[in-house]
Amino acid sequence: MTDPRTDELRDRLQRVHQRIETACAATGRLDRPELIVVTKYFPAADVQRLYQLGVRQVGENKDQEAAAKAVHTAISTAGLNWHFIGQLQSNKAKSVARYASAVHSVDRSKLITALSKAADQALQEGQRTAPLDCLIQVDLREPGVDDGRGGAVPAKVEELAAQIAQATGLQLKGLMAVAPLGEPAEPAFDRLQQLASSLRGVHPEAHWISAGMSQDLEAAVASGATHLRIGRDVLGSRPYPG
Ligand SMILES: *Cc1c(COP(=O)(O)O)cnc(C)c1O
Repeated sequence: MTDPRTDELRDRLQRVHQRIETACAATGRLDRPELIVVTKYFPAADVQRLYQLGVRQVGENKDQEAAAKAVHTAISTAGLNWHFIGQLQSNKAKSVARYASAVHSVDRSKLITALSKAADQALQEGQRTAPLDCLIQVDLREPGVDDGRGGAVPAKVEELAAQIAQATGLQLKGLMAVAPLGEPAEPAFDRLQQLASSLRGVHPEAHWISAGMSQDLEAAVASGATHLRIGRDVLGSRPYPG
C-alpha cells in the first residue's frame, strides 16, 4: 500500500535528519538532538503517517487542536509523546495535562500552579503515569517591543525553576526559546545555552535545551540544543501563518 503523502513525509523527514547530521558534524557534536515534529495545522492523519515512519515526538501550539488530535490518534499511536509548545492560558492546564508529556512554554508562576494541580489530578485519575515535564520559555529579545511570542525574562528563570522543582506532578527539564525576530539566531541561542548552563548548576536534572525551528536548525545545533522543533520542513508550508 503506497500513499503519496507518506512518501512525501518520509522524504522530507530524511532530509531534515540529514540536515541535523550535517549540522552536528560541522560543530563536532557527537550526541544527537531529539527531533520534535511540529504538526500544528496538519491533520491527525499526518500524525499517524509520521508515527508509522518512526516519529515518537510531536509538537502542538494550541490546546483545542492538540487535544482533538491526541484523542483521535490515541489507539493507533502508543508511545507517542505530545509536546505543548505554544502560549498557554492557565485555564487550559487541565486539558493539556491529560495528553501532553511536556510543556515547553512555561513562563509564569500562575501557570506553574495550575499545571501542578492539573498534573496531580491527571496522575490520580490515571490519565497520565508520569509527571508533566516542564521547560521554562525564555524571552531572548533585548528589552523592547513585545512580539507576542511570550517567555519569561532571563532574570525570572531561577525563581520559576525553583517553583517547578518544588511542585508536585511536575518535572523540571530545562529551557526553551524562540529566536527573536529580526536578530541573528546564533547569538540569541548562545545566550540561551549560557542560561541553561547556570540552571544546570542548581538543577542538574534540567538538561534540555529546546531551540531551533526549520529556519534556524543549524544555529540551534551549534548552540547545544537537545530538542529541535521542526514543522514546515517536515510537513510543508502551513495553510495559515503561525
Ligand atoms: C510553529 C512552531 C515551531 C515550528 O516552526 P517551523 O518554522 O514550522 O519549523 C517551533 N516552535 C514553536 C514555538 C512554534 O510555534
